[in-house]
Amino acid sequence: MKAGDNAARHRRDRTTSGSLAVVERNSSGIPPFDEKKRLAELHSLDILDTPPEEGFDRYTRLASEIFKVPMAMVSLVDEDRQWFKSSVGLEVGETPLEASFCVHALKQDMLEVPDTLQNDVFHHHPAVTGSPFVRFYMGAVLRGPTGQPLGTLCIMDTHSRYLTRLQRNWLRTFGHLVEELINHNHALSVGSQKEHSDSYSQSYTHIGLPAEALFKDTLANLLRLSNKEEYYLAVLYLRLNRLDEISRTNSRFTRDTILHCLAERLSAPSNKVLATGHLSLACFGAVISLPSVGDFFDVIIPIVNDLSRPIELDEMTVRLDVDVGISLSPLDGLTSEDLLERARAALNEPISPEGVHVFSHEAEKAALRRHAIEQRLEPALLNNLLSQHYQPQMLADGSRIVGFEALARWQDEELGSVSPGEFVPVAEKSRRLSGLLMEWSLRMVCEKAQHWPLQPSDAPLRIAINVPADQFSQQGFVEWVLATLEEHRLSPERLTLELTEVSLLTDVDKAIQTMRDLQDHNIAVALDDFGTGYSSLSYLKNLPIDTLKIDKSFIDDLPDDSRAMELVNGIIRIIHGLGLQVVAEGVETEAQRAVLQELGCNVIQGFLFSRPVAADNALTLFNRWQSDM
Ligand code: C2E
Ligand code: CA
Ligand code: CA
Repeated sequence: MKAGDNAARHRRDRTTSGSLAVVERNSSGIPPFDEKKRLAELHSLDILDTPPEEGFDRYTRLASEIFKVPMAMVSLVDEDRQWFKSSVGLEVGETPLEASFCVHALKQDMLEVPDTLQNDVFHHHPAVTGSPFVRFYMGAVLRGPTGQPLGTLCIMDTHSRYLTRLQRNWLRTFGHLVEELINHNHALSVGSQKEHSDSYSQSYTHIGLPAEALFKDTLANLLRLSNKEEYYLAVLYLRLNRLDEISRTNSRFTRDTILHCLAERLSAPSNKVLATGHLSLACFGAVISLPSVGDFFDVIIPIVNDLSRPIELDEMTVRLDVDVGISLSPLDGLTSEDLLERARAALNEPISPEGVHVFSHEAEKAALRRHAIEQRLEPALLNNLLSQHYQPQMLADGSRIVGFEALARWQDEELGSVSPGEFVPVAEKSRRLSGLLMEWSLRMVCEKAQHWPLQPSDAPLRIAINVPADQFSQQGFVEWVLATLEEHRLSPERLTLELTEVSLLTDVDKAIQTMRDLQDHNIAVALDDFGTGYSSLSYLKNLPIDTLKIDKSFIDDLPDDSRAMELVNGIIRIIHGLGLQVVAEGVETEAQRAVLQELGCNVIQGFLFSRPVAADNALTLFNRWQSDM
């Protein structure tokens, strides 16, 4: 039987029968003791001399860890020996009954010996006077399906100790969990072989680790225990990156060799991991107990380092790329689902200086908000619940408004005010949403701008709209823009399309062709946010654009920062050399405006002149500037 199998059976039984097997007890809570019946029950369970099982080992490990004792075991008392189904800190697999404490526990529910040297029965006991020199013993009796005592889950120490009532209860609870393992294990082994193998393959993945459902089940058990005592459980979600790539470039390593190796590391008894799971091909789960939050990194980082160290085989070294997301119970959640989900979600968090990703409620809130935005944006666009504001673009000397940039504003019933900085990136993740946003922007501009007066001068008053990254490369984009303008009887000379470099990434040649088509039809093209992306000045000369917008981050440091001055000066000269217009974004002070004018910047946009304003106010602004001239 494989490791942890009992837990799987336990889970299956629970789901089919709806309740856990209950050990029979008499009115005093302890069944009548009959050595013959007891041995018959023990032997009927077919557990003696079976191989070690992870399901049991985890509980002895957990007991040793939590009670901070060097020895813990699941001891089964046979006719003439005690046999250990699982043990921590003991070299031997069984001992004669004379050397057993557990045999003394069988007539009760618990046996506690705080100091063996002070105890008349035990001070001459061979395990006290000789190895392992037991000073403290506490055993919780394990019972079979009819209530016969089989042995104990016990902890031992070489120093005397006194447990609190809470701690005693806890060992008792642990004992019940081990009982469940034994009894359900047996209940299933009397079922058919086929049923067994089905249950096995459902519960374990091909590398022999518990699958997600079983892992969650074990985690739920551990949570139940940790709730009673003051310790924390850290849930780790480990993602092995580039698995295929690693196995391809190291032909001797198959994917499974790597997975098996990780599984072994996770299950190594020394690593203090209480439960492990194989959640999907390249993702693992692990549970670690922490005495206090302060121990978080001290305990976890060595384990993570050990897991992700390179795999050495036949003088070859394979480096692993493992991302680790962590959530902490009870702070980050109380159920196994929540904790696992949050450990997974933590992978989207920035990496900590220690090299792991730690769940934070703020980030979760942000993720939930992003999700809500994704859900609510489409109906909002379809029902025209967004509004469009317009920010004037002025000549650098401030004398005249030459255009406006249209910027979306969204006040949602549930989400409150949602800035474009929030919803545009969400929209850009979905072709449908970004398409709807594009349609909405252009339609709004057409509806407003057709009522706006033309410039008295030759130059047309242009309105700029932002084009979502993926829209520019859509089939038929130019035709669609032209048709929409025509429908609203708006001249193409009134429109500027602002793109960012991301729009050019997928297919530069196609993008260049689209720009040419637009220019051929007198629609202006501006490259937005210049300086924030790849921003190689060298490719600019190949781009058919009319205007380049220098990003606010460059303008911010003007005029005092000499490096920023040099940069902006250089950019403006190169842009002018290419025959393009320069717009400076985010101009907030008169000093910035003055220096930009001096450097030859053509157009200025920023709070210095006006924030983006509603359509009516934009018109007022425009008329006022015209009359001031
Ligand atoms: P952007 O295209 O770079 O737009 C300029 C942003 O800078 C606007 O922010 C504007 O309000 C802000 N801004 C302008 N002058 C100043 C200034 O002097 N100081 C400061 N601190 N900020 C200034 P907003 O409206 O929040 O838009 C953010 C981004 O969202 C825009 O950056 C644009 O990329 C995107 N966006 C906005 N509206 C739309 C839209 O309707 N469609 C699409 N596709 N994207 C939009
Ligand atoms: Ca823009
Ligand atoms: Ca910009």
